[in-house]
Amino acid sequence: MNHLKELITNHKDSLLDSHLKYGGVCLSYQESSDLDGRDYEEVCIELDEGNIAFSVQRFKGCTDCGCMEFSAHQVSRSNIVVDYNNEFISSGELYDAEKPYGPYICTNSDCGKEYETLPNNNSDYLEDVQNKLKEEGIGVYLDRSSFLEKINQFENKE
Ligand SMILES: [Zn+2]
Repeated sequence: MNHLKELITNHKDSLLDSHLKYGGVCLSYQESSDLDGRDYEEVCIELDEGNIAFSVQRFKGCTDCGCMEFSAHQVSRSNIVVDYNNEFISSGELYDAEKPYGPYICTNSDCGKEYETLPNNNSDYLEDVQNKLKEEGIGVYLDRSSFLEKINQFENKE
């Protein structure tokens, strides 16, 4: 949905400022859904008490459009009906199905993005954002009370 790297670059000065003063910025995570009912995850980056630098969002389904359904593949076994020549006549009850696999294709006809593995399936968004900030040399607080404590200590020193 938005480019974290770009946002970090655009806010580099204020991020570094908080890093120098308080040892980092504070991250908070929430899940929500938009007006179209698409679920997304959001991480807010707070520089100072109540001062949000920016927030990043990620759809839980398709990263481009938020669609929650994908076409996939599956090996399955079912009971069928055959004639006396062992020719298939009709399908019957499915009795065994293996784990679905990719490529997965977004079922939204306007999108159709293809994935080898399901998007966002195996990554922790908060952790992703945290790691990106750390790579840029910005410390991170996940616990807001320790962050506020650091701010207080800094204010008292001034
Ligand atoms: Zn899509």
